[in-house]
Amino acid sequence: MLKSQIQAKNRQTDEFEDEEKLVCPECGSEDVVIDAIRGERICNQCAIVLKGRIIDEGPEWRAFNTEERDRRSRVGSPTTFSVHDKGLSTIIGYENRDSFGNKLTASRRAQVYRLRKWQIRTRVHSSTDRNLAFAMSELERLSSQLGIPRNVKETAAIVYRRAVEKKLVRGRSIEAMVAATIYASARVRRVPRTLDEISSESHISKKELGRCYRLLLRELYLNIPLASPIDYLVRFGTELKLSGMCQRKAAEILAKAKESGLTAGKDPTGLAAAAIYIAGILNGERRTQREIAEVAHVTEVTVRNRYKELVKKLNIAITI
Ligand SMILES: [Zn+2]
Repeated sequence: MLKSQIQAKNRQTDEFEDEEKLVCPECGSEDVVIDAIRGERICNQCAIVLKGRIIDEGPEWRAFNTEERDRRSRVGSPTTFSVHDKGLSTIIGYENRDSFGNKLTASRRAQVYRLRKWQIRTRVHSSTDRNLAFAMSELERLSSQLGIPRNVKETAAIVYRRAVEKKLVRGRSIEAMVAATIYASARVRRVPRTLDEISSESHISKKELGRCYRLLLRELYLNIPLASPIDYLVRFGTELKLSGMCQRKAAEILAKAKESGLTAGKDPTGLAAAAIYIAGILNGERRTQREIAEVAHVTEVTVRNRYKELVKKLNIAITI
């Protein structure tokens, strides 16, 4: 389907609000759901937010319990103390009185003030350090399981630190945030992994991964390029032990497919898989549809359908 057709289809659904399924413009998935909290249409397959009518942008703050929610919902000055510091009042009271209830002298007050400040600093820092240390070891573990290249891992470490600085990890699982960070960084570096792959290796649900990923996008203003089927070629080609020449051939096929408008709204991994299948045959390095489907994490049916389509529409002569 062409992008314009998809947009038209999406627009139509906007107007009539019928049961018709929406199609993700990026990966072609029909698994599009509405996030009730933010009122956004999101794709369950690649976690992007679909453009279109947004019902409610939702509050910019997050509340961690009902008390906090009530407090923050009210119009007025923002709350001063985060959960971190709140616990401190039990160590050094915020009332400027000693334990007998007498008012403190000015110099004593200054001393207590300094003590409080240092307590806050050490407490916040040590919890941040603990969080980071755990997150970095988790990043290391998951990256090696997924065979993530070093540059992606480094980008992920930077993104994660920024997430910690902006307190995005607070109230969320570190493992989920690390996994989402890897997903985002692999896309930034143009060696994307699918949400499915990361979900199955990290044992974090796709839903939670998607939620964390969108939070990173929103709050850290990450610039994520659209996933292109060409981004997957080198990885699939390497895993299938295909020559560089064969991978280049696959890239050529994809470039032609794009020119002819055959790629919009199609799953990029399926397209890459089909291009590799064709290039393998043309180059005398044939791999079975099954082998390719396994590497690409798509079904054999997808490989077959995309392959037939490409061969037919691009007039590629194939003899098997
Ligand atoms: Zn999608």
